Amino acid sequence: MSTTNTTGKINVQTDNIFPIIKKFLYSDNEIFVRELVSNAVDATKKLKALGSMGEFKGEIGETRIEIELNKDAKTLTIKDRGLGMTAEEVDKYINQIAFSGAEEFVQKYKDKAPETNLIGHFGLGFYSGFMVASKVEIETLSFRDGAKAVRWECDGSPNFTISEIEKAERGTNIILHIADDSLEFLEQSKIQQLLDKYCKFLPVEIQFGIKKEYVKAEGEEESKEVEVANIINNPEPAWTKKPADLKDEDYANFYRELYPMNFDEPLFNIHLNVDYPFNLTGILYFPKLKKTPEIQKNKIQLYSNQVFVSDNVEGIVPDFLMLLQGVLDSPDIPLNVSRSYLQSDNNVKKISNHITKKVADKLEEIFKKDRVEFERTFEDIKVFIEYGMISEEKFYDKVSKFALYKTTENVSYTFDELVEKIKPAQTDKDDKLVILYTNNANEQYSYIQSAKAHGYETIVLDSQLTPHLIQNLEGKNDKTQFVRVDSDTIDNLIKKSIELVDKLTDTEREDVKKLTEELVNVTTFKVEVKPMHTTDAPIVITQSEFMRRMKEASVMGGGMSFYGSMPDNYNLVVNANNSVIEKILKEGDPSTRKEMMQNAIDLAKLTQNLLKGEELSQFVNRTLSKI
Ligand code: ADP
Ligand code: MG
Repeated sequence: MSTTNTTGKINVQTDNIFPIIKKFLYSDNEIFVRELVSNAVDATKKLKALGSMGEFKGEIGETRIEIELNKDAKTLTIKDRGLGMTAEEVDKYINQIAFSGAEEFVQKYKDKAPETNLIGHFGLGFYSGFMVASKVEIETLSFRDGAKAVRWECDGSPNFTISEIEKAERGTNIILHIADDSLEFLEQSKIQQLLDKYCKFLPVEIQFGIKKEYVKAEGEEESKEVEVANIINNPEPAWTKKPADLKDEDYANFYRELYPMNFDEPLFNIHLNVDYPFNLTGILYFPKLKKTPEIQKNKIQLYSNQVFVSDNVEGIVPDFLMLLQGVLDSPDIPLNVSRSYLQSDNNVKKISNHITKKVADKLEEIFKKDRVEFERTFEDIKVFIEYGMISEEKFYDKVSKFALYKTTENVSYTFDELVEKIKPAQTDKDDKLVILYTNNANEQYSYIQSAKAHGYETIVLDSQLTPHLIQNLEGKNDKTQFVRVDSDTIDNLIKKSIELVDKLTDTEREDVKKLTEELVNVTTFKVEVKPMHTTDAPIVITQSEFMRRMKEASVMGGGMSFYGSMPDNYNLVVNANNSVIEKILKEGDPSTRKEMMQNAIDLAKLTQNLLKGEELSQFVNRTLSKI
């Protein structure tokens, strides 16, 4: 193409591509910023590469990319000092290649419902400018010796013009004439926000106008306002550096750079750095987790060669790792594909496994290096670890060796240590190991105390994931059962072969049973009188582990709704060997006897938090009248 002034028609099959681009990409139109700025970055990097290969012998000089907003002229300009294009190259790369790419993209997706995050993932490049511009101009001067500068113009129809122009500086200016329906892109704050989002870590310095800063010069009293270049990006973010070159402080600083609005400190981090068989870099941070999963604000950000892609890494990292924060950068993650395709992609699978392994390795490293530190940290990441253990087999295999279980006495054991510790006392007559747990040490206090009196340990499992975790651990460990400490009387929790002697005669037992049944609602409370240790409470109320698990499962959904609609049922066990019962039996006056029994029952209900409303107030009044 040697003419100085050419008009032409882009060879189109799709009659007019631009309205389609515009309509289709509407919700994601802001990505034009990323596309055009990353083209400027590419052009700069290519020039540097040509320089180092000796194909470009000139001076590279300043390469800062500049973004200029002109509200009066309604233009947004992206200027680079990269390799530029000749007229032939404009024709080839813009009229033909870029256009066919855009056309292919539209052909492929025009009949599909826009899938969020699909469009944002590249594929449209240069032509994305037409989402917000009624006219796009390119002014460019190639680095090649004797090259002539050219201007390409296109108003969104398939017609374009190319003309020769005067341009002294090497490189390319992309001038967007912002369309009337996209005037928001003429706002300084909007562009600043988009540059922050998409361009923050691009590898070539980017300037967006100037900003005011207050500086105090030496020897002066007051700080003065000065104008400095408004630099958008950090071209060398921490994750692109070698782990050996970074200190703890650098990781902490990068965290703040990444999430400026976040004031928590992360617990620790993992620096990923792989180039074979896939390319992956990044830094993941472990945040302190709350007991209940909260809405996550500081999500993992996904980059491709330092270009921001998305803050949704669903399908790329396992679900439980989405609780982490930080950055992943991989050019090997396919971008313009759906989430379901992502999960079946081989590279993505490998990347996901690699990250899981690295996370488990890091945890093991801390565990081995400093047990005390690990125990302290564990509390803050417990939810995450439990989530990982129940959802990822491979993670379970590694982490189950050092995941910690804390007793009500505040001692932390690994699972193996715990088993070792409790085996002698808590193995039942069928050789099954019974692990007692509480999900609320406060509410189940009296049960924990009586377990303790029998020499049993109770561990605290109090997260939302506890029911799943327990099922998982029972599935993986033969002859092991988790039983909540208040789910039965002590002798039944861990059945031993010793028979307890019953102090009561058959008639006495019948009497106690009848008396008790008169005083409780027998559809809710199944009454039983049996011998327990004299030190056990006179009356114990329990709810069976099975029943409670079914009810819990029905609350969490799944086909258990039948259990959810069942009324609560409890066992009310009278301890035939407790001296209080003996005393009640000895009482001659029937009404006093009844009152004594009522008090014993109410006290048992109180310890299970079951004494409420009218019953509670009657109990209070009765007790007060005795003072
Ligand atoms: P891609 O970047 O994926 O190649 P684009 O549609 O973004 O696709 O750009 C098409 C081509 O146009 C680029 O490959 C490049 O050759 C050329 N190009 C676009 N912007 C510039 C620029 N600022 N400087 C030099 N060449 C550019
Ligand atoms: Mg591009």
